[in-house]
Amino acid sequence: MAGTVPGETPGLAPQSAERQALSEGDFMVVRQKPITAKPAVIPSNGNILLDQHGRVFDYLRIAVNEKCNLRCIYCMPEEGIDFKPVEKCLTTDEILRLISIAASLGVRKIRFTGGEPLIYKELVPLIREVASIPGIKSIHVTTNGLLLQKMAEDLLAAGVDGVNISLDTLHQDRFEEITRRKGLEKVLGGLSLALRIGFPSVKVNMVAMRSFNEDEIGDFVELTKENHLAVRFIELMPFDAHQIWNTGKFLGADRILETLHSLYPQLNRVTGSATEEHVFRVPGFKGKVAVIPSFTRSFCGNCNRIRLTADGRIRNCLYSDNEFNVRDLMRNGAMDEEIGRMFRQAMWVKPKDGWEALKTNGNHRESMTQIGG
Ligand code: SAM
Ligand code: SF4
Repeated sequence: MAGTVPGETPGLAPQSAERQALSEGDFMVVRQKPITAKPAVIPSNGNILLDQHGRVFDYLRIAVNEKCNLRCIYCMPEEGIDFKPVEKCLTTDEILRLISIAASLGVRKIRFTGGEPLIYKELVPLIREVASIPGIKSIHVTTNGLLLQKMAEDLLAAGVDGVNISLDTLHQDRFEEITRRKGLEKVLGGLSLALRIGFPSVKVNMVAMRSFNEDEIGDFVELTKENHLAVRFIELMPFDAHQIWNTGKFLGADRILETLHSLYPQLNRVTGSATEEHVFRVPGFKGKVAVIPSFTRSFCGNCNRIRLTADGRIRNCLYSDNEFNVRDLMRNGAMDEEIGRMFRQAMWVKPKDGWEALKTNGNHRESMTQIGG
């Protein structure tokens, strides 16, 4: 059973697929034979994406670009990375087609990320189109917030339900140190506008780092006092071309939790999303705080995520290099059914957890900006 997608029509099943490496080196590409005489029998579970471990995937995260207007030291070197030329990245029409296919397979939630999605020129029209795709129930954006003041109203009007703003410090000098750019006021302005105009969900993602911003955990919690905001403390992950990973800045979820409990002994546990394992509210505060063990990876059993890279690869796990080149499949004229089958195959073989995923590869991606986080 392992390796096959249940419910596939005989003859169209992945094990009969002609596997061949197309264009880019090691990427596994599954080329299916064209559908001929008989139409596919739609299996009972044919309209959901699931894996061999019983997980169902209904959340698609799309990196719309690789480029960014910041240079966070844990993400990109100052000079940037070897950005893909635009023709290698998905077009807006291609992204829309893939979202429609994913929606027909049960995807309900979309997140646009990057690179920096707010510098993607067609983001607002893209979101407007996505909002009308049958089945899509919510649209979210993860942004560094620099352009949010300019774009928040358009994003809301286009149909965005939630914005996650990445902000690691409330100090100007540290902001410049971590992002290698100026702009803290702009990000804070974007955050307060997002809260004011009424997005259903506003979150702040803070990558917590030892001897850098650990002492700001309390200040970030205080943001939740008067604001309907979720502040999430995130573990640093080893995706960076400049190896900040090796500088001792990693701060584990356990230590973040310890700090939270010592600052706020009265913290109440509440519920959160699938990857928010530890979610709390300070009694009397309007917002919530969460700790995301993104390196410790203790939430993999609840994972419901599919990732699509800017250059059109389906990635079934943040930590897995086993990517599926849906861009070339699409550009070679594949029908929606074939593309859907690649989604199903990609997710079916998802490793049990991020630790198992690492065993299968060498982490060839230089930066989180290519995957979208
Ligand atoms: N540019 C947007 C932003 O910063 O929100 C979207 C893309 S960014 C790659 C998405 C998320 O990944 C951000 O919250 C960022 O902090 C996080 N990220 C990037 N590199 C990381 C790393 N090495 N460890 C932990 N989080 C990281
Ligand atoms: Fe840009 Fe986001 Fe990476 Fe920072 S984390 S460099 S804002 S893509």
